[in-house]
Amino acid sequence: MIDLRSDTVTTPSKPMRDVIAGAGVGDDVYGDDPTVNALEERIAALFGKEAGLFTPTGSLANQLMMRSLVQPGQEILAEVNSHVVRAELGAAATFSGITTRTWQASFGLLNPDQPLEIATPNAGPYLVSTAAIAIENTHNFGGGTVQPIDHIKELYEGAQSRGIAIHLDGARIWNAHIASGVGLTEYGKYADTISVCFSKGLGAPIGSMALSSKERIDSARVWRKRYGAGMRQVGILAAAADYAVTHHLQDLAHDHRRAKSLATAIASINSSIIDPLTVHTNIVGLNLKVLGITATELADRTKGKGLLIGALGTHFARLVTHRDFDDTQCDEAIDILLNSLVA
Ligand SMILES: *Cc1c(COP(=O)(O)O)cnc(C)c1O
Repeated sequence: MIDLRSDTVTTPSKPMRDVIAGAGVGDDVYGDDPTVNALEERIAALFGKEAGLFTPTGSLANQLMMRSLVQPGQEILAEVNSHVVRAELGAAATFSGITTRTWQASFGLLNPDQPLEIATPNAGPYLVSTAAIAIENTHNFGGGTVQPIDHIKELYEGAQSRGIAIHLDGARIWNAHIASGVGLTEYGKYADTISVCFSKGLGAPIGSMALSSKERIDSARVWRKRYGAGMRQVGILAAAADYAVTHHLQDLAHDHRRAKSLATAIASINSSIIDPLTVHTNIVGLNLKVLGITATELADRTKGKGLLIGALGTHFARLVTHRDFDDTQCDEAIDILLNSLVA
């Protein structure tokens, strides 16, 4: 079975498992795990941040960073289809008393004027004060789109001048970096807090990281424990993440190339299903409206032929390429998709 439901479906390779087996460990709640400590320092340095905090999930890294920026009763602004708004089950409201307002952007692509126009910092006793703006790069439900660095910079500067913080949900910032050539440190410059995932395209079995100033990360460490996510000999997982960053980062370019091939092949049937120009990285979003079939119908058809895809909306299907999907499987997947789309 070929699986394009997500880039989270990858499994650890033999060399990654060897690194896991050999990892030095200690009790990380006591700060004693050398592999975790080294990973936190390494990733923080990559993004030009003072400190990092290893977390089991990207959602937790997002939540810890958002609560460090936004007080209960204040708001964070985010794009209407962003992960923090749609896919974290209301965690910011549930755990941190944070309210949200959204703006809508085609393909999730950032226009800095949109959040800055609706922002209301220090709104006084009647209106909700905006404390932070969250951006997502790449934008998952936007189809893996890369936010142009100029727009991020403009947003950061506009927000700073209004006393508003920027959180970057960088679950796939690695893909943005490889696709755009913009340095990780450059992305780090224009965010007060960042979350990154090792468990997506990089192919680690689990793990994410929150990145910020030492002060914010020290406080987030307390909140991580309070949430029940203080972990012990977790160096075995940090070792996998470290291996993934060293050995898998450059491979993302292959995932991007294969996503483009899928999009180009599908566009040959009907260009309104997908415009290959909108495929910047490893995600291919299909709009099936013109064909009059639902995403679930298409997913059922492809599954019967040996290909799993994601049905995310009534007419919206998603294909995500990853390191356990090779060129041969890409050819097979194209055959299956073409047959299923015209069936
Ligand atoms: C996957 C993802 C996350 C984190 O997801 P977890 O499953 O909690 O690790 C956060 N943001 C985006 C955009 C994602 O795609």
